[in-house]
Amino acid sequence: MATWQCVTGCGACCNLDPSDRPDLADYLTPEELDHYLSLVGEGGWCINFDHDTRKCRIYEQRPRFCRVTPQTFEQMYGVERAEFNNFAIECCQQQIAGVHGENSTEMEHYNREVGEGFDYRSAQGESGRGGE
Ligand code: SF4
Ligand code: SF4
Repeated sequence: MATWQCVTGCGACCNLDPSDRPDLADYLTPEELDHYLSLVGEGGWCINFDHDTRKCRIYEQRPRFCRVTPQTFEQMYGVERAEFNNFAIECCQQQIAGVHGENSTEMEHYNREVGEGFDYRSAQGESGRGGE
């Protein structure tokens, strides 16, 4: 079974463009939604994202909606813990495809690191994009 992980040099989920995430209000509290929108900067990129290092400048203090854990995914998206890995991998792949491209080096890197042969389109327990 593939195990979710974040890979270095990606940063795709730090592009917060709300037009790419029409369901924000479904899984964020009103306060979180305000916070989320306050972070959106040029080109949809989070104002805390360092483009040179492709890392978060406030990593330890990042909001709940940036935390990819079984607990936050259960709380926000109703994803059962047994489904966490597949769901989180699918979220990453969809975000990477949208931001960097299906055939990008970032996608290639991600698939190599996460596990060869994992195909989010046919993953067991696929439950749809929920954002991250
Ligand atoms: S999309 Fe996934 S791999 Fe890329 S930065 Fe976000 S959590 Fe990490
Ligand atoms: S707060 Fe950090 S982890 Fe969250 S979107 Fe911004 S840069 Fe990314």
